[in-house]
Amino acid sequence: MPFYRRSGRIRLADTLGFDCLGYAGYLTEGMKGGLLHPDGIYAASGTEGVEEGDIVMLTSDGTVTVLWGANSSQNSLFVTKACNCDCLMCPQPPAIHDPQDLVRAEKVLDCLRSRSVKQICITGGEPTVLGARFLKVLERCSREHPEAAVNVLTNGKLFSDPEFAGKTASASNGKALFCVSLHSDIDTVHDRLVGARGSYAAAQAGIYNLAKLGCAVEIRHVISKGNFNRLKRFSEQMYSYFPFCAHYAFMGMEICGQAFKNFDEINVSPLEYRDCLEEAVMSMYRAGLPVSVYNVPLCLCSEKTRPFARQSISSWKNIFMSQCEECSKKDKCAGFFGTSAFLPGDLVRPFREDACDDSSACWG
Ligand code: SF4
Ligand code: SF4
Repeated sequence: MPFYRRSGRIRLADTLGFDCLGYAGYLTEGMKGGLLHPDGIYAASGTEGVEEGDIVMLTSDGTVTVLWGANSSQNSLFVTKACNCDCLMCPQPPAIHDPQDLVRAEKVLDCLRSRSVKQICITGGEPTVLGARFLKVLERCSREHPEAAVNVLTNGKLFSDPEFAGKTASASNGKALFCVSLHSDIDTVHDRLVGARGSYAAAQAGIYNLAKLGCAVEIRHVISKGNFNRLKRFSEQMYSYFPFCAHYAFMGMEICGQAFKNFDEINVSPLEYRDCLEEAVMSMYRAGLPVSVYNVPLCLCSEKTRPFARQSISSWKNIFMSQCEECSKKDKCAGFFGTSAFLPGDLVRPFREDACDDSSACWG
């Protein structure tokens, strides 16, 4: 790397030498430098996980956090911990907005400026509670990376304001996919699950506003004890009232944060909802709606549901059970959240090439 291009970059090196001069920081497992490297030197550990081109954050205690993986297709811009809901199943409980989250996200965008980026996910918390600051991030993503697929994870409520929805549509320049969570076909059930009255009505209005403005919308439905027995009704509601969406996803739950705290109230076994999920998925499929199942392992889906199950869990938190090593479908399976406090390991049934391919039969 020529000297004049080093100032905004971090050098990863086993030992520090003359070739390390001029960088903004150093990542080394070696000793602190001397006169030539007086500042910004970190006796870091675990640097083997860092790859060329990654965007990392260094803190003075030597902690290295990868903010953007150069070779990952699942990168996110985390803009805030704040949210205008309080979901029973939130994996990361909302908190007061820390301005540093947004600063960090904008710095990542600065570093990405001259790069080719295929995918950007804007997430939180609820990104839209930042108002104009969210719009600025969205506008930068669309303008600076016109080739990228931009996803916004949102509860959709603030798009019920037509003016804000209009500004969002302009900022996205028609390029973003708005992934809106909707957890029931009944307003009171949705509102109870997300811990805020009026959320269903606001999200519904938000979805319509976005659609009227030509924005692509995906509906995301997290399956829980509070809604699984109405999955088919939910799918019928999608067909009747939201048939214009680009995609629909039924999602298994990540058991951490609030979901862990409210475990008894909301957890439901994938085996318990398996038949309801099949009914809902097949109903949408027959209606011609593009539907997927996220975060549910193949052996916990019915045979008919399996073709719709995706490998949806981010690689950095995706794990498999020891039994999975002998499974012939592991390379197509979503596996499990490594972050979940509860994993249904006793339910796992590896597929074998020479055995029955129907887990429903295997389950008796
Ligand atoms: S899961 Fe619910 S509470 Fe958590 S960030 Fe999303 S909308 Fe907010
Ligand atoms: S045994 Fe493991 S890899 Fe195979 S389908 Fe089940 S969870 Fe997936």
